[in-house]
Amino acid sequence: RLILAVESSCDETSVAVVEDGNQILSNIVASQIPSHQRFGGVVPEVASRHHVEQITLCMKEALTQAEVTPADLSGVAVTYGPGLVGALLVGISAAKAFSFAHDLPLIPINHMAGHIYAAQFVEDFQFPLMALLVSGGHTELVYMKEHGSYEVIGETRDDAAGEAYDKVGRVLGLPYPSGKKIDEMAHEGEDTYHFPRAMLKEDNYDFSFSGLKSSVINTVHNAEQRGEEIRPFDLATSFQASVVEVLVTKTLRACKDYQVKQLVIAGGVAANKGLRQGLELGLKEQQPEVSLIQPPLKLCGDNAAMIGACAFYESQKEQLADMYLNAEPSLIFE
Ligand code: ATP
Ligand code: MG
Ligand code: FE
Repeated sequence: RLILAVESSCDETSVAVVEDGNQILSNIVASQIPSHQRFGGVVPEVASRHHVEQITLCMKEALTQAEVTPADLSGVAVTYGPGLVGALLVGISAAKAFSFAHDLPLIPINHMAGHIYAAQFVEDFQFPLMALLVSGGHTELVYMKEHGSYEVIGETRDDAAGEAYDKVGRVLGLPYPSGKKIDEMAHEGEDTYHFPRAMLKEDNYDFSFSGLKSSVINTVHNAEQRGEEIRPFDLATSFQASVVEVLVTKTLRACKDYQVKQLVIAGGVAANKGLRQGLELGLKEQQPEVSLIQPPLKLCGDNAAMIGACAFYESQKEQLADMYLNAEPSLIFE
C-alpha cells in the first residue's frame, strides 16, 4: 500500500510517498527557516505564504522521486493539527484537492502521532511502548498499548524543551532555531553553572523548563550588568546537563513503572546527542530489557514520511476524513 503524505503544520512544507508504513520512497522537505530567522521565530503569515508557494512543487517532486503515479496510490494522508492554523490549511486544501481529483481516501493525521511513527522506519513497534516526545511545542511521555492508542502520562507544565533551547540560544546570540548549535557547544564545555533540575524528585512524569530558561537568561543578563564575561560553552553544557538529566530520569522511571518493551524518542529535540547518550546509557545500566528506538536525525524534525507511516495504521482503522476536514490548531491526544 502506497500513501502520499502531506505535512505543513509549522515551517516545513513536506510531501512523501511511503510504502506499507515502513519504507520511504520519497520525502521532500522544503524548509523556510532562513525566512523566519531575522524575526527570531516562526511568523505565521510568512509560513502560510511559503507553504502556498511550495506545496504543489513538493507534491510533484515526491511523486517523481518515488516513481509513482496517482493511480498507484491507496490514500492521501495529511496533518490536520496541532500547528499554525493558516499553515495547516494549506496542506489540508492540497490533500483534499488531490484526494478528490484522484478518488483517493483522505486520512487525517495528528502531527504528534506522526513524530512517534518516525521510529517505525527503524524497527517495528512492540507494545506496550513509551514515547518521549520532545519538540519545539511539546514535551510529553506517551504510553501506547497498541497502534493508534495514546495515553499522555506526563507533560511539561510550561515551556517545551525545544522552546527552552531556542530561547537560551537567543540570549547567547545564536540564530533560530538554536537547539542543534547548543547541543554541539554542550560537548565542549563543563557543567560549571549547576542550574536547577526542576521537578526531578516529584512523584509524577511532568516536566518544567521555564525556571531553567530564566536561570540561564538571568545569568547572562547579570554578567552583562556587572561587565563580566560569560562562558558560553559552559553555559550550553550546564543548560543541556539539566535538561538531559530531568528527561532521562523521568523517562526511565516511566518505562519501569509501565513495564514497556520499547522506548521511542521523537520530535526535533530527539536529535540531541546528549539526550541520546543519556538514554542509551541509562537503559543499558538499569533496564537492559527495554529496547531504545532512535529515528535518524533527519526524521526527528518535521517531515511528511512520518505522517505517511502513521497513516498506514490509521487507514486500517477506517477513521477517514471527508471534504469537511478542518484544521485543529490545538489538537491533543485522546
Ligand atoms: P511541534 O512538533 O511540537 O509542533 P515543531 O514541529 O516546531 O513543534 P520540531 O520541528 O519537531 O518542532 O522540532 C524543532 C525543535 O527541535 C526546535 O526547537 C529546535 O531547536 C530543536 N532541536 C533540533 N535539533 C536539536 C538538538 N540537536 N538538540 C536540541 N534541540 C534540537
Ligand atoms: Mg520545524
Ligand atoms: Fe513537529
